[in-house]
Amino acid sequence: MMKCKRCRAKAEVQVRQHNAAFCRTCFIFFFQRQVQRTVEKYRMFTPADDVLVAVSGGKDSLALWDVLLALGYRATGLHLGLGIGDYSGRSTAKSEAFAQHRGARLITVNLEDDGHAVPTLARFTNRAACAACGTAKRHHFDRIAYEHGFAVLATGHNLDDEAARLLGNLLHWQTHHLAKQHPVLEATHERFARKVKPLFRITEYEAAVYAFVRGIDYVLEECPNSAGASQLTYKDALNRIEAAMPGTKLTFVQEFLRAGRPNFETDDAGAPQSCEGCGMPAFAARCSYCRLVQEVDAKRRPDRAARLAGAQP
Ligand code: SF4
Repeated sequence: MMKCKRCRAKAEVQVRQHNAAFCRTCFIFFFQRQVQRTVEKYRMFTPADDVLVAVSGGKDSLALWDVLLALGYRATGLHLGLGIGDYSGRSTAKSEAFAQHRGARLITVNLEDDGHAVPTLARFTNRAACAACGTAKRHHFDRIAYEHGFAVLATGHNLDDEAARLLGNLLHWQTHHLAKQHPVLEATHERFARKVKPLFRITEYEAAVYAFVRGIDYVLEECPNSAGASQLTYKDALNRIEAAMPGTKLTFVQEFLRAGRPNFETDDAGAPQSCEGCGMPAFAARCSYCRLVQEVDAKRRPDRAARLAGAQP
């Protein structure tokens, strides 16, 4: 019988990357301590900070919100209703149910309310849904954090996400992206929040087990647009390597941060200016979200687009 590394009771959860096994209670302790150590080691935030947690309704973001609340951090949820059919409806319902159950504050923004849901953004601009979605998410996360006075924005990216992203960036030698891959991105504009990833050393498997043992009711289905995404191919390749050599993903990401990333720092695009459309950070005269919306409106409502083009910040 496999025994819990901490209390010697019967183990129920094996954590191969740490060559350890735990009973349920000790796994919860282990998981929460891992997150706390990451938050402290990388100076992500302190108990005095108000943290905005981006919550999709999936296991990773709800597990993150749960652990931050359990550790006593001041964590408010932010959920974006992306307007992706029934999937978005169920994601919103799970996020709201979690907030209600935990008595936590949740800010919900529906992209359909101003007519710019993800399917609309993609359809009118001929972009891939995930490209349009990424631009919209980045904009609204920053905007809501700024408007509500949050200096820190936490996302539920886990080790599998970070390792897959790193592999993709390396395979294509995307040096700008390598320069920006870090679990803490400091604010480089007055309307930017510090972006942090407290789960970046936690595997997807560990997050799923944590969500299960904590009784978190999350949306099980994947977004319909995720099928065929290159990220899944990278994750699959990394899972095969991890199965043969446990701990490889963690070493890959940690050693990149220690030894690899410093070589790319000069490729960082630097501090942004202010968008002349919305005032949010931009690396051109207008931010990528304003340009996206302008493109949609130009095709859908030419008169409104002309008015927006002349708008002042
Ligand atoms: Fe957005 Fe693509 Fe993720 Fe769906 S899979 S939530 S469209 S980024």
